[in-house]
Amino acid sequence: MGFMTYVLLVMLPSIAITGWAAWRVRSAYSKWSKVDSGINMSAFDFARRLLDHQGLHDVKIEPVQGQLTDHYDPRGKVLRVSSAVSGRPELGSFDPNEMALGVPGGERLSVAAAAVIAHEVGHALQDRERDPWMAVRQTIVPVAQFGSSIAPWLIIGGLIFNFLNLAWIGLFAFGAAVVFTFVTLPVEIGASGKALAFVGNLGMMGERQVGAREVLKAAAWTYVAGALTALLTFLYYLFLLMGRRD
Ligand SMILES: [Zn+2]
Repeated sequence: MGFMTYVLLVMLPSIAITGWAAWRVRSAYSKWSKVDSGINMSAFDFARRLLDHQGLHDVKIEPVQGQLTDHYDPRGKVLRVSSAVSGRPELGSFDPNEMALGVPGGERLSVAAAAVIAHEVGHALQDRERDPWMAVRQTIVPVAQFGSSIAPWLIIGGLIFNFLNLAWIGLFAFGAAVVFTFVTLPVEIGASGKALAFVGNLGMMGERQVGAREVLKAAAWTYVAGALTALLTFLYYLFLLMGRRD
């Protein structure tokens, strides 16, 4: 298989899948960041309230710069809320092109911002409940990081210099990175399921709940896209190596 096969079977489909997922996230966020959630709280107060409701008093909340950088850190037990979601760009450097999910001023929450925060609280709850998928995910992290950064070089280098054993080691490590992207899916979908229950309990019903679901679904598709493109690349490397067997 040559370069053109790679372009047609791996590169173009990967760009298409990733682009489609990114477009979905953008359109869902831009639509639902304009709709008021009806929750009259700042992003930080809302996060605190949801965490306390779940008995997660020990989880800290910190601001983080950027958009879609919101995350829960299981090692530090910290939930980080992005400036885009909190509507408080003064906490970081403000980029006027940045997609604002929060209402400027930050004292009211959009449907999109509420959904993102509830999703991260979902991760914090998974951590406390010792979610098995999250545990597996944490275990694979080191191999997966090695696999996604160095493994492609081992594979390509092994093929070029005819060190096939090295290439197979690289493929094995890259496989761990692929497994990681797939194990991420139940973790993400689980956190979104919890998030929808949280916002429902706080009175975000009807249209607003539909909006929250749309935002979370779009975000989940980006993880599906990541897993599929990783798998495509893995299969391509596998075929390359199989072709060298004789
Ligand atoms: Zn998540």
